[in-house]
Amino acid sequence: MSSGRLTGRSALITGAGSGIGAATADIFAREGARVVVADLDKAGAAATVERIRDEGGVAEPYAADVSDEAEVEGLVEFAVRTFGGLDVLQNYASNRTVVPEDVAVAGADAAVWTRQLSVDLMGCVFTAKHALPHMLRRGGGSITNASSLVGWLPLESRPAYATAKAGVIGLSKSIAVEYGRQGIRCNVVAPGPIVSPGTEGMYTAEQTEVLAEHMAAPRLGRPDDVALAALFLASPEAAFINGHVLVVDGGMSAYAPMVPSFRRLAGEG
Ligand code: NAP
Repeated sequence: MSSGRLTGRSALITGAGSGIGAATADIFAREGARVVVADLDKAGAAATVERIRDEGGVAEPYAADVSDEAEVEGLVEFAVRTFGGLDVLQNYASNRTVVPEDVAVAGADAAVWTRQLSVDLMGCVFTAKHALPHMLRRGGGSITNASSLVGWLPLESRPAYATAKAGVIGLSKSIAVEYGRQGIRCNVVAPGPIVSPGTEGMYTAEQTEVLAEHMAAPRLGRPDDVALAALFLASPEAAFINGHVLVVDGGMSAYAPMVPSFRRLAGEG
């Protein structure tokens, strides 16, 4: 069901060839946005565009590495040239190839940290840097960056990822403060565990059961859950919301840590 909440808007979405970014591109296009579907994965971006066009939406694919500033500059120029400007920026690109190497801080490998931070954090810096002048020229715009629950509730592993995602919050609030008076809104979506290609194989069956046990919801998250939150943040209804972190975690971070143990003691499983 679409209510045309983004009609007339042009949107640039990174990481839109997979998972949450792809779901966001689908939903934004359904809501009337013209979407540049950007991803390192050219085939993924093309598949998202094909889906959108099949539904009658407007989208263009673009292959770019968000950790490369020159490529990001080209990407933003493409979006502006193709759709006559830029109103909405959404950052979902994330480097999952470093997961097995992103372990204990005492063994931190500079190259691994750089690979994680350069995509998940600097990608957001570069896209904002190049998009902001265009948005300011139009009198405003909306940016949403993907953080994660892990940004402030880290797992035992993935310290570089946790650091990147914490950094995304600081960056987004900085943009909100610096440019809010000029009509720019910059918010954050912070997903809990979402079943997506990005998390495929990340958790064992037993770990997935533990995740489900820690949900204050009857299921794990889906890419659409985050995309719909992002739609709200990008929509006119969120006009007075700036520098906000919208947690989309099925209530995982809402309760005291001992609740599952108490439930087990009470025989609730
Ligand atoms: P995903 O399925 O792995 O999608 C991420 C996309 O980013 C992939 O298509 C990937 O391409 C692309 N990408 C990787 N490096 C890139 C680069 N340098 N430049 C441009 N694109 C690049 O991820 P997801 O699970 O949907 O997550 C989306 C966002 O939400 C991420 O920022 C993630 O950290 C965050 N998040 C996800 C969860 C979750 O449980 N899924 C939880 C919290 C936060 P390749 O396939 O070629 O690598």
